[in-house]
Amino acid sequence: MRDSLLSERMEHLEQARELHQKHPVADAHFDLAAEVYARRMAGERNIVKDRYLRHFRKAGCSIIVSSVFVYTKDLKERGLQTALAQIGALREDLDTVSDEICVIGSGKELDTALEKGKIAVLLSMEGLDPIGTDLHLLRVFYDLGVRGAGLTWSRPNAFGTGCCRADEMEEIPGGLTDLGKEAIRRMEALGMYLDVSHLNNEGFADVLKCAKAPFIASHSNAWEICRNYRNLRDDQIQALAERGGVIGLNANCCIAGAVPGDKSGALLRLCEHVEHLVSMAGVCHVGYGFDLCDGLDAAMAGTKVSPDPGDLLKNHEEAMELTAALLSRGMEEEAVMGIIGGNFLEFFRRVLR
Ligand SMILES: [Zn+2]
Repeated sequence: MRDSLLSERMEHLEQARELHQKHPVADAHFDLAAEVYARRMAGERNIVKDRYLRHFRKAGCSIIVSSVFVYTKDLKERGLQTALAQIGALREDLDTVSDEICVIGSGKELDTALEKGKIAVLLSMEGLDPIGTDLHLLRVFYDLGVRGAGLTWSRPNAFGTGCCRADEMEEIPGGLTDLGKEAIRRMEALGMYLDVSHLNNEGFADVLKCAKAPFIASHSNAWEICRNYRNLRDDQIQALAERGGVIGLNANCCIAGAVPGDKSGALLRLCEHVEHLVSMAGVCHVGYGFDLCDGLDAAMAGTKVSPDPGDLLKNHEEAMELTAALLSRGMEEEAVMGIIGGNFLEFFRRVLR
């Protein structure tokens, strides 16, 4: 009995590996720019090359969305500078692996990168705080390659109010401001997509009233599976899908509701989120947006490993184990292909001009 279970597991892992190598794989949320910037400021170089490239390749990653994220402590004095410096640092770091990875800004560039077997990096702002209240700066960030943005991180700003942080449990009230609604109109006119992952519930409702284009939740899970305010209610999942958006599965322990270190428990919980999201949104509206943060946390703390590990997947390679778990629980291969990257690829092709 045990032997047959083991061989079944190996079979699904092999099937997952094949899917990851033959079909697009996307991670819709990774704090890469912030980590690269922090490490370069500490003197390190070739960060993507030495720390991430082999995991990206083994996982068959074709699209990585790098957020531009500024810590609250840096916002007031140097928020704009930090955001710009993160973009500069990431681009400089990627120059050392330009034959393997490139920043893309259009559907055409995305397709060219994939044809050449390169990994496409897409830039997205995690909160518009660095632009203060000046919407002209949206165009500046667009010209620097930023193609997506959340109005807020888990904090209030000039555009709206974020939900609570992953490890806090609190409903935070407050809808979008007039400036927040105008920001959505300007982003849509520019061809930038909106990301609602850190927005609170009232803000989400306002987005439904004023957004015309499809929008995503790059790294959020299902509230029904884990009652964390970072997660989406069933009606929100359905509304986002009806608008043509995609939800990225978050692999953070607090947001998924699992314990780091308990691999099989974590995989089970992540599968439950995917299955619930699929049951509400349909198979074409769910993807991966792992939000792996241990690397960034270690870089910020100046330590070798994160002082407070929260990632349920050690690296992108481990995504294949999650994919194998979905297959072993009976998900159709066609649906799994969309979830590992096909659905986000379609979304980005549609919104990137
Ligand atoms: Zn986040």
